[in-house]
Order: sequence, then structure tokens, then C-alpha cells
Amino acid sequence: MSRVEYSRALPRAGRYDVVVAGAGPAGICGAVAAAREGARVALVERYGILGGMLTSGHVGPILGAVGPGTMRDELTFLLGVQGNDMLGETGVAHDFEKAKGTLARFVGDAGVDVLLQTMAVDAVREGDRLTGLVIAGKEGLRVLESKVFIDCTGDGDLAALAGAPVEKGRDDGLMQPVTLEFLIDNVDEDRGIACIGDVDDVQLKGERFLDFCRRCGEEGILPMNIVAVRLHRTVYPGQRNVNTTQANGIDATKTADLYRAERTLRAQIPLLMDFFRRYLPGYEHCRLVSTPSTLGVRESRRVMGEYVITAEELAAGARFPDVAVHKAEFIVDIHNPTGPGQAESRIQYVKPYDLPYRCFVPLGVEGLLTAGRCISGTHRAHASYRVMSICMAMGQAAGVAAALCAALCCDPRALDVGLLQAALTKKGIDLFSP
Ligand SMILES: Cc1cc2nc3c(=O)[nH]c(=O)nc-3n(C[C@H](O)[C@H](O)[C@H](O)COP(=O)(O)OP(=O)(O)OC[C@H]3O[C@@H](n4cnc5c(N)ncnc54)[C@H](O)[C@@H]3O)c2cc1C
Repeated sequence: MSRVEYSRALPRAGRYDVVVAGAGPAGICGAVAAAREGARVALVERYGILGGMLTSGHVGPILGAVGPGTMRDELTFLLGVQGNDMLGETGVAHDFEKAKGTLARFVGDAGVDVLLQTMAVDAVREGDRLTGLVIAGKEGLRVLESKVFIDCTGDGDLAALAGAPVEKGRDDGLMQPVTLEFLIDNVDEDRGIACIGDVDDVQLKGERFLDFCRRCGEEGILPMNIVAVRLHRTVYPGQRNVNTTQANGIDATKTADLYRAERTLRAQIPLLMDFFRRYLPGYEHCRLVSTPSTLGVRESRRVMGEYVITAEELAAGARFPDVAVHKAEFIVDIHNPTGPGQAESRIQYVKPYDLPYRCFVPLGVEGLLTAGRCISGTHRAHASYRVMSICMAMGQAAGVAAALCAALCCDPRALDVGLLQAALTKKGIDLFSP
């Protein structure tokens, strides 16, 4: 690649104890948790609203479980959806419009400095240590300095910029498909089915609904790669959140791929609307309400850390002495990187498992933690812990760890994990129960 030399001194935007890049479920919890420990915290988000996939991505179901007492419980309470049963036992449905305001208050009330419409674009290193985050906002390029940084960008942008080792996808490099989820209403609730996904055997006129959709694909009624039609109930009767469009072969860390995906997915939405109205009882008069303003990326970089957790460990319900998130639970949900539905013919269930603190500590750079879907794990393990309940609990643990490191002037790699566990346990978080 040819290069252009460019050099200039950048203004300082502030000095913090903890800087969090990315304000999705992990980043929000990370920033609030660190601020509540008394740290001076900045939260950098490239979009104009907080929440990541929880809001910008139109992801309605908050899936997965973690042990009691984490910020996941607090957030679902604040969102007013704790324990709702729209999705059976798989998780809780929430209203992503309501969440935009709730999250803005949640973060502001904790005293976090929020930098919206600001992208993390480069890392300043002194030796092995990350000391500054170059941000691009309305004022141009500036630098945020901090004692500790947390990469919650989902894509592991900050860790990659800082030089930590990263991996992407499975052995052949392919990743799970990207999706635009969209919201529809005017579904007749008495007749209109819902379908959470491949674990759902809901029937349509005596046939398993997903088999019916596959048959429609084979008969040319639906494009074959969008026959996994997931229709999630929301908190409002007559609404469905549709998690069905998909584009394969996309690497969301490559700019050129983003528009290719956007164009493909936008073209699938009218096809699906037409399919619903024609073939699904109760959907005859359904209307498109809204689509997200950003691509839904399930998988991109995984930042390699002190420990790399595997799906085999999740299946066995692994416990670790340096547990930071306890009793995490969600199936290994690998959306097919090459076609419709699931990548694996048999669903891999897991036993409630621990995420060890070492998965949050990247190799090769000091002063940095990760939380959310970019932590250190394998392609298959990632497909379980990437759901939002688990990302929230990870963010909280990383936030408390970062605040401790800042207060003790110690590097995340050297943190006495007992201190982190004591701080989390003091908040009522269960880390150790059998
Ligand atoms: C289509 C789809 C459907 C899904 N369905 C479900 C579901 O039903 N239930 C469920 O629980 N989970 C679901 N997931 C998974 C879940 O939404 C994500 O894995 C989870 O949100 C990850 O949380 P996170 O905080 O790590 O990242 P994200 O939610 O992706 O948040 C990352 C944040 O960082 C910001 N950011 C990124 N790069 C930068 C940068 N360089 N500078 C500044 N900011 C940056 C982003 O704008 C974003 O706000 C789904 C995911 C997708 C894509």
C-alpha cells in the first residue's frame, strides 16, 4: 500500500482515569461501573446515541443469562422489562426507542463524560503502554489521555490500533453474516406467529415454520439465504422485530464491505415484507415501522488475551479461579457464514460458565482491557458470550477492574483479581455459587 506521511501535534481533549471506547451494552456498563468506583471516566461513541446494538442496531431481545446482582439486572429494571415473558425463557424483549433515553440518563447520572459522534481512530503508545486515544470529532483530531482504557467497540478497534494480536472468524477466515434487523407492526396478534430462531419449533398450518420458510426458498419464493425467518415479539402487541436479512462474506472491519452489505440487506427488506403479507396468516396488513441506521455485525475481531476461552469449556460449564462473570449461559449460536440458518447441524448447549478476568486482558499492550463481544475467545465460544446480557456483565467487571487499576496505579495485567472479585461481590454479584 502506498503511504502519505502526515505528522502534527494534536490538542489534548482531557486526562482521565478510565477511557472507554464504544458505548454498546459493554461500554455503557463499563463506563458507569468505573465512574461509580470514583474514577474520572470518558466514554467515546461514534454514533449520536448510546447503546450500540441495543439501540442503534434495533436488537430487541436481551438474550442470555448471568448470575444475579450484575448491572444486567439493573439495566433491565431501568428499561422496565425485567422478567417480561414475550420471548419465553430465552431472554427479555425491550423497546429500543425507550432505551435511547434511559441509557442517556444512566450514563449521565453516573457522572461519565460522554463524547458522542466521536470515533476512536488511533492509539498513542509509550513503549508497551497505551497512553492516549486519538479521537476524531467535530473539533478534528484530539487526544484523550488515561491511566486505563477499555475497548468496548465490538470490533476491537482500539486494541487493534494499539497493536494487540487479533483474530477473525473461523479457520477459513469467514465470519457470521451481518444483518439489518427491522421493526414491523399491525400484525394480528391472535393469528400471527412469532419465531425466536432455530431452537423454536413453532408450527404454521401443521408444518414447522422454519421448514416452511426453507421450502419457500427451494421453490424460489424467498432468496435461499434469508429463509431463517426470525420474528421476535416485542413489548407491544402486534409488533415483530425481524432478524432475517443477511449478507455473507462481509468483513465489517473493511470499509468497502460496509456499503456492499448495506445495499444487499436493504434490498432484502421489501422482499420479506411481501413474503409476510402474502404467506403469513395475521401479517396481511403488516407495516414497516423502522430500520436501523447501522449494520448489525455479529462477529469481527477477537482480541487475543491472557486466556482464550473455548466452546468446549462453555459446554462443560468451566469454572475459573479468576472468575469475573459467573453463570453466563447462552447456546453457541453460529449464524451460517456461508448460507442460511445455523452453521452447525446440532445446537451446542452450554452449562452456566465463568468468564475469567484473563480473557479481558489483551496480549502485547499495557494499560488496556477489553469487554463485550471482542474479548479473548475462539470463534465458537464467541458465538455464545456475544449476547447482550453477558456483554453487560463483562462491561461492569472490566469497569470496576479499570477503576481499581487507576486507583492503585497498577497495570490490568498485574491486578490482584481478588480485589476485583471482592469489589464485585460487595455489590451483591454472585461469582462463586455452585
Ligand atoms: C443482527 C444481530 C442480532 C443480534 N441479536 C441479538 C439478540 O437477539 N439478543 C442479544 O442479546 N444479542 C444479540 N446480538 C448480539 C449483540 O447485540 C452484540 O453482540 C452485543 O451488542 C455486543 O455488545 P458490545 O457492547 O460488545 O458491542 P456493540 O453493541 O456492537 O457496541 C459497540 C459500540 O461501539 C461503538 N464503536 C465501534 N467502533 C468504534 C470506534 N472506533 N470509535 C467509537 N465508537 C465505536 C459502536 O458504535 C457501538 O455503539 C445480535 C447481534 C446482531 C448483529
